[in-house]
Amino acid sequence: MATTYEIVIVGGGNLGLWTAYHLAKRGFGRIAVCERYWAGFGATSRSAGMIRAQGGSETAVKLGHWSLELYQRLGQELGLGSGFFETGYYILASTEEEEKAFRDLLELRRRCGVENEWVDPDEGKRRFPMVDWDRFRGAVYTPNDGYVHPPIVARNITYAVHREEAIDLFEECTVEQIEPAGSGYRVHTTRGVLETGRVLNAAGPRGVRDLGAMLDVQVPVSAARHQIITFAEVDQQPAGRFPLSFALSEGIYVRPEEQGALLGMSNPEERADRSGRYQITYDWEYHERARPVWEAIWPSLAGKPISRAWAASIDYTPDHLPIIDEPRQGFFVLAAGGHGMMWGPALGMVMAEFIDEGTAAGLPDEEIRLARFTGERKSRDTIALPFPEE
Ligand SMILES: Cc1cc2nc3c(=O)[nH]c(=O)nc-3n(C[C@H](O)[C@H](O)[C@H](O)COP(=O)(O)OP(=O)(O)OC[C@H]3O[C@@H](n4cnc5c(N)ncnc54)[C@H](O)[C@@H]3O)c2cc1C
Repeated sequence: MATTYEIVIVGGGNLGLWTAYHLAKRGFGRIAVCERYWAGFGATSRSAGMIRAQGGSETAVKLGHWSLELYQRLGQELGLGSGFFETGYYILASTEEEEKAFRDLLELRRRCGVENEWVDPDEGKRRFPMVDWDRFRGAVYTPNDGYVHPPIVARNITYAVHREEAIDLFEECTVEQIEPAGSGYRVHTTRGVLETGRVLNAAGPRGVRDLGAMLDVQVPVSAARHQIITFAEVDQQPAGRFPLSFALSEGIYVRPEEQGALLGMSNPEERADRSGRYQITYDWEYHERARPVWEAIWPSLAGKPISRAWAASIDYTPDHLPIIDEPRQGFFVLAAGGHGMMWGPALGMVMAEFIDEGTAAGLPDEEIRLARFTGERKSRDTIALPFPEE
């Protein structure tokens, strides 16, 4: 193992890998990526892969929009499938307040280059009868959103990183300690000591907080259980495109999965989990409580046999927005606020720019910097799962 790097990236998930990739494209110098297990093994490959540019703030919209393009471009660069399926996406409004908030976001999204429209229940019934539109006031819709197959995303970005000469990807390499040394850092890992000018903390839901604590930096990222089930088949699967749909108030979403469907949900009563372990126990009690809700919204899922069920820890920040910052000289932090599949490629791009040039693609400071958590909070991504309050 060579020991001197321009930067050591801790975490080989969607965020760390995409940052390494963009830094290498910039000719940044020698880059090490240290991953405790294997590239993509964390939240990345356990996720649902919902991808949307229909965010609830400027940063959320831009990161979603850019990521969609980056996934597709990487597939072309590698000569492989991108893993992205364009399906369109309905975000369903249950209340008058939601309808107003969703309508208010249309203009922001269009300004950011995202095609977005309001769809009323009659039009919704005609286009996508799988949803019981009588329960909703309508939805916002984007034709270009869709989903990725997470294992393919992990494969592509790992392969892209692995073939860059400037990057050494060390798997089964846990970072145990980070020590300031001269103008840089000494990173102690289970595979030896690395000397570096800079460190990027991209250690995901199970590591980013602890990695920060190694240098007395508070990183307000928490982890909570999030659950997924898949159905092998559904009644009336649409003949053409099978769009994604998200009942925001209920915190439940559905997308196609092979000839069936995938459903994701978060229990709003779930509490932050500080154990550092993946919360892999599927909560069947909550499943049974939530079942009448999703069966009412998507009646064609009612009574369908479940082919897979899993749970894992999802990351979140108090405002559901990402963290892109340098809280101490040469020590950078990157976190996705629970949206690391839809934002990962663009977060990597912006982080690489920030490390290399000190700028962040014009994203508003109050939506990305750590200082926002100590002052009065101005922004929030309103299109998010019901994560627990801190
Ligand atoms: C069930 C579920 C469904 C989800 N669905 C979606 C979705 O539909 N859309 C979406 O946008 N997001 C979704 N997410 C969230 C998304 O998966 C995450 O935001 C994203 O994967 C975070 O990427 P990451 O690189 O920060 O973290 P990870 O992928 O967890 O990568 C961090 C890596 O750091 C490593 N690490 C930690 N500590 C150390 C250490 N000390 N030394 C070395 N390595 C270390 C870990 O092993 C891990 O591999 C979902 C998450 C879950 C759990």
